[in-house]
Amino acid sequence: MDLTPRQQRALQSICDTFAPPTGDWPSASELGIPGAMAQALDLNPRPGERAQFLQLLDIWDSHLHSLLSVGRWTSFSALPMETRVRVLLSWADSGLGRRRGVFQALRKAVGFLYVMLPGAGGGASPVWSQIGYPGPLGPQKPKPRPLNPIVSQGDMELSCDVCIVGSGAGGGVAAAVLADAGREVVVLEAGGYYDDADFDGAELGGFQRLYLEGGFAATADQSVGLLAGECLGGGTVINYCTSFRTPDDVRAEWAAAGVPWFTSEAYTRSLDAICARLSVNSEHNRVSAREQALQRGLGALGWHAAKMPRNVVGCEQGKICGYCGYGCSLGAKQSSAKTWLVDAQAKGARLVTETRAQRVRIEAGAATGVEARSPKGFRITIRCKTVVVACGAIHTPALLLRSGLRNEHIGRHLHLHPVSNVCGVFEEEIRPWEGTMQAIYSDEHRFLTGNYGVKYETTALQPVIAVAVLPWREPEQYRSLLGKLANTTAIGVLVRDRDGGRVSLDREGNPVTQYALSEFDRAHLRSGFIGAARILEAAGARQIFSPHAKWCAYEPGRSGSLQSFTQAMDAAGWNSGQLALFSFHIMGSARMGSSRKNSATKPDGETWEVRNLFVMDGSSFPSASGVNPMISIEAIAHHNAFALGATKEQ
Ligand SMILES: Cc1cc2nc3c(=O)[nH]c(=O)nc-3n(C[C@H](O)[C@H](O)[C@H](O)COP(=O)(O)OP(=O)(O)OC[C@H]3O[C@@H](n4cnc5c(N)ncnc54)[C@H](O)[C@@H]3O)c2cc1C
Repeated sequence: MDLTPRQQRALQSICDTFAPPTGDWPSASELGIPGAMAQALDLNPRPGERAQFLQLLDIWDSHLHSLLSVGRWTSFSALPMETRVRVLLSWADSGLGRRRGVFQALRKAVGFLYVMLPGAGGGASPVWSQIGYPGPLGPQKPKPRPLNPIVSQGDMELSCDVCIVGSGAGGGVAAAVLADAGREVVVLEAGGYYDDADFDGAELGGFQRLYLEGGFAATADQSVGLLAGECLGGGTVINYCTSFRTPDDVRAEWAAAGVPWFTSEAYTRSLDAICARLSVNSEHNRVSAREQALQRGLGALGWHAAKMPRNVVGCEQGKICGYCGYGCSLGAKQSSAKTWLVDAQAKGARLVTETRAQRVRIEAGAATGVEARSPKGFRITIRCKTVVVACGAIHTPALLLRSGLRNEHIGRHLHLHPVSNVCGVFEEEIRPWEGTMQAIYSDEHRFLTGNYGVKYETTALQPVIAVAVLPWREPEQYRSLLGKLANTTAIGVLVRDRDGGRVSLDREGNPVTQYALSEFDRAHLRSGFIGAARILEAAGARQIFSPHAKWCAYEPGRSGSLQSFTQAMDAAGWNSGQLALFSFHIMGSARMGSSRKNSATKPDGETWEVRNLFVMDGSSFPSASGVNPMISIEAIAHHNAFALGATKEQ
């Protein structure tokens, strides 16, 4: 994205206010962050949002902006540093959610790039040595690749029985099951194909190649970051291998919501089949230094703790494992690209990558094909008898809406399992970017209200994951927190959200995501933060802080208490943009149900409006799963693809 000189000046001074040059730490400009931010803007597919950002830069350096923010009639770039900091904080602490959202977006973008960009000539970043972070794994040895996807070299027409759009958790399973049932299958995948040898652990390349919108996707108000895969294998390539079966209480709830087969033996068999193919086991659960704090804290409190079931074979559980979120270079993670897509290909399925479906063709009330485009603008046209949409819960409703479906439940009931970290700084070195992704968890507070509550899990704190929720109040304190990252661990609080958001379309047909925590869900998040602080305190943390925009912290036994911490968090607020939230679990936006009045699809996944058009991915959930969703998504796709494959004529 080309910026005008005025916009460039504004962006540079914003970035250098977040990260000015000090001592051994480089400034944002020295690392090239303003240019990288301008480039990252191109990853946002929504022209409206890009235009809004440019408008913001246009006004940012105006005298009027400084006057309204801090009462000074001069441009932002001419203000002294401490006044510029005050301007940024006036956005962070604004009474207007929109302004807080802008601050959060800027904080995240500058923070991400600050720790993610390499140093001069692509070498180690000076920031990494300040943090003590070793940097990426580096180039990996070439290996044979199990899949042979097609990449279009021109306009292309293909015919098949079933076209599956999306190759992640749901799409991968549907492809394998339907190909095994003798159907001629074509899978369309928007992202590219990457395998073990490509996974060098670099955060920048990892996000750019493997994640939706390069990792910058977020709700429209920027209050929740949205993390999802965009590559062959989808989220299963970059996810953390936690493999929970659908809990019995959730199965009962979903059956009561109009999908009776959730409590059937057939669904149990699908769960069994998925866990068998993914080699789900509890024998790769070495507890890293990062998780020892969780284990110690839970033990001291006498709270529930258990081993994570994980879909890995030969997992190293050491230094390499911390890079799992950028693909497993060892091939230990049993992603769709290692399992279901291999099975599908062996049965003749064709995999077409770098191909984004634009719309489903519908004739006489039935799906008859898919129209897609490659990034180079080639047209890919698929003629088929059945379409299975498995684009993930943001893009599935978008594709259905673009294709003209109008059922009011398409795009609604979006669940995100909003998650954030409460951090603890310890005396000893932890190196939280290393070790098994998620070896243990706690369900101590899973049932806070009925079967709604929180799960406690940790994740490897690669620098980007750490800064995603790291509060920024002024540059020195921020760098001090970064400097302590090697001694920091975090307890992730994952909320089973009862009340949902919505995916709709912008004028160009791109998905726009609206989401705000309800009072009910906020109360659980609050309880979870208090619980996480208790775990960290019991584990011996010296300092504990929350991801609020305002600084909320205490030092057990030395300064403040759990009570003062809770009061500070309540004063800082629980509304949108008042704290950093993320979602790794995007669900429910084209849900199954008993009638077109309460759902987007029938229990077998077929849309109520269009025959032979099915949904088989995280969108299908009747409500949030309450556990990490991959196994449930795959089991639903398995169950419904099996039923579809068993029908006579497609
Ligand atoms: C970092 C991270 C860690 C996670 N860890 C875990 C974990 O440990 N355990 C767990 O259970 N869950 C985890 N999850 C969540 C889990 O991976 C997802 O819930 C799951 O992959 C979603 O499956 P899906 O089939 O709905 O969509 P996805 O797996 O996201 O697949 C959708 C695919 O469709 C493609 N697509 C989208 N639009 C189009 C289009 N128009 N045309 C063609 N293709 C399109 C996308 O590129 C993508 O590859 C994690 C997620 C992330 C991001």
